[in-house]
Amino acid sequence: MSALADITSLGDSAQRWRADFPVLQVQAHGRDLVYLDSAATTQKPNVVIETLERYYREENANIHRGVYLLSQKATKAYEDSRKKVARFLGAASSKEIVFVRGTTEAINLVAQSYGGALWQEGDEVLVSEMEHHSNIVPWQLVCEQTGAVLKVIPMLENGDLDQEAYAKLLSEKTKLVALCHVSNAIGTVNPIKEMIEKAHCKDIPVLIDGAQGVPHAEVDVQELNCDFYAFSGHKVYGPTGVGALYAKSEHLERMRPYQGGGDMILSVKFDKTTYNEIPYKFEAGTPNISGAIGLGAALDYVTNIGMAKIKAHEEFLMRKAVEKLGAIPGLRFIGSPHERAGALSFMLEDIHPHDLGTILDMEGIAIRTGHHCAQPVMEFFQIPASARASFGLYNVESDIDVLVRGLEKAKKVFGK
Ligand code: PMP
Repeated sequence: MSALADITSLGDSAQRWRADFPVLQVQAHGRDLVYLDSAATTQKPNVVIETLERYYREENANIHRGVYLLSQKATKAYEDSRKKVARFLGAASSKEIVFVRGTTEAINLVAQSYGGALWQEGDEVLVSEMEHHSNIVPWQLVCEQTGAVLKVIPMLENGDLDQEAYAKLLSEKTKLVALCHVSNAIGTVNPIKEMIEKAHCKDIPVLIDGAQGVPHAEVDVQELNCDFYAFSGHKVYGPTGVGALYAKSEHLERMRPYQGGGDMILSVKFDKTTYNEIPYKFEAGTPNISGAIGLGAALDYVTNIGMAKIKAHEEFLMRKAVEKLGAIPGLRFIGSPHERAGALSFMLEDIHPHDLGTILDMEGIAIRTGHHCAQPVMEFFQIPASARASFGLYNVESDIDVLVRGLEKAKKVFGK
């Protein structure tokens, strides 16, 4: 098949995929909704909505403790989802998958249970300048507790990471590198495999914040050889309030529990408690059972489509967006990284991004404006905020055309 035929057939497929997402039929201010904020959260396909509904209608029970049929069914569905997450990430075992609230909780878990328990004064943790606040603040908290020091891998002008500076920052003091797979603020795809290899040469473990990685490309944690990989269900077409932490079992075995409570123990006495085996040691209390099952349905959904197809379709959209938005006089992209996925940040003339977002909203176009929980990125580019369009598998080329028309209208409104 020629490349053009390939792209046309992907465009046709995306039109079909759109039909799976009921919210895309909703109108906004009397216009067809053009949803360009998937980096904040993705819309949910029918199969996820129906799975949640079926769970509550037919299977709801607390898990792991019940001897009766309904509880056993719920337990099986929850544990089957864990296996799906393990397969989706290419983990060696489902024991390496901890269900959490999302990326934020996964990173806090590692910060406290790994860093908090093992680090000492003078140890260093390395993050990058493009991190989301949830991959900065948990490390600052653990640094306050332990006396460890936070070090920062700088960005280059184009929004890539400075690899030479990275190599120099890795030292015998470095206890962990915590790095995003893909930047939510400017879309940079980091060369994480090479960066993990560099850290491992010095026996330094690496955590990958995969919140923006998992939705856009196939991830294989064994091939990457990362030590930890965190992602949120709601950014990959699943429910909110659930996500997963992948961690190599050798780390999970060594780590202290994150929280105490029911289900994370084998036995409790006042003088001694014995913790449950991994991964249950890290899942205190009743978890988000329906969320985890819904996440399993979302991962089945994207797997059935094929992550390679989704990636190719989104790469096509990104090329079109760069080409069409780039042709608007007065539009400036924030960052021009060598590889970009999912999100495109920009400024239009000197219009404040919030004003821009409000005008686009009246046209039915949903984009995100603000600092994207990445204030250091805004500081780097010396802007208070940016406008960000981000894509999901259901976006089509005409969404970009509508955005371009909306931006041209905004220019007129502001007399530009
Ligand atoms: N990291 C990145 C790169 C993100 O984009 C986000 C969400 N915007 C997070 C972490 C935090 O994810 P959550 O709020 O789902 O925990």
